[in-house]
Amino acid sequence: MRSGAGVPTEGYREQAIFYYPLRGGVQALYDSVLEKVSSMGLRLVRGIEVREVRRVEDRWIVNGVFEGRKLISTIPLNELVEAMAAQEDIVKIAKHLDYNSLAVVGVALEGKAPDMHWVYVPDRSIAFHRYSWISNYSPYNTPDPNRYSSILVEISIPPAIEVNPERLVEESLEGLKKLGVISESGGEILFSKLWVHRYAYPLHTIQSNKARERLMEFIRESGVMVLGRWGTWRYLNTDKILEESLRLVTNINSR
Ligand SMILES: Cc1cc2nc3c(=O)[nH]c(=O)nc-3n(C[C@H](O)[C@H](O)[C@H](O)COP(=O)(O)OP(=O)(O)OC[C@H]3O[C@@H](n4cnc5c(N)ncnc54)[C@H](O)[C@@H]3O)c2cc1C
Repeated sequence: MRSGAGVPTEGYREQAIFYYPLRGGVQALYDSVLEKVSSMGLRLVRGIEVREVRRVEDRWIVNGVFEGRKLISTIPLNELVEAMAAQEDIVKIAKHLDYNSLAVVGVALEGKAPDMHWVYVPDRSIAFHRYSWISNYSPYNTPDPNRYSSILVEISIPPAIEVNPERLVEESLEGLKKLGVISESGGEILFSKLWVHRYAYPLHTIQSNKARERLMEFIRESGVMVLGRWGTWRYLNTDKILEESLRLVTNINSR
């Protein structure tokens, strides 16, 4: 509010000053946690979509295959209530949870990056709202930071809009050219890649917050534990998710 009114303000300090892994990008954080918990005996099963969550006596059964006494869900709240085959009014309420999707376009370039990290683009004629010189986050993010650089461009997309992958890449490159970030010929582009995140940003609208409140009540009554940005449908960042994960596990262990 203050910065919108033109009053100088520092904003979110944690978004301006943070640690970034020297090697392996942000994925290194998750790999490191996984390695630690795996060595403690965690069994991880990957690549299975949760379609059904049922309560049978004192057990939870997922997809008719996995069974447990306790269930912690981090999948999006709307998908959880569907998997639980909740009553019709609850499934209907879940459709009011608002969110935005996000497309990320990565562009690898020949040439050294300028001395910048991330840049906001408050311009409706440009498809993206932000781009980052991700190669400046660590000298190991390119094979040689004196010869190569890389950019990440972020485009918010309302979930109702159908994504056209080729068009998104084209629009990103057009925007970078228009801003003078890359040359008109684009001769320095080595390759580009697109990632689409269907669930990117939960939106805290009045309608969405109301729906969330009712769904959380339903979840509490059901006995399932929910965690994370999508599990609890709150705009949380990674630090907060890790903090809440530790708190939840400590609570369970102390019972
Ligand atoms: C593009 C982008 C940029 C971000 N940048 C930052 C940043 O700079 N700093 C920061 O701190 N945070 C950032 N975040 C947020 C951070 O990634 C999230 O806070 C964090 O990943 C949330 O963790 P989570 O476990 O709650 O959810 P997620 O990491 O989203 O995990 C939920 C998982 O559930 C899976 N899933 C969904 N439905 C089902 C189903 N039916 N069955 C099985 N699995 C399912 C999904 O595939 C996903 O793997 C960013 C997020 C995005 C999308």
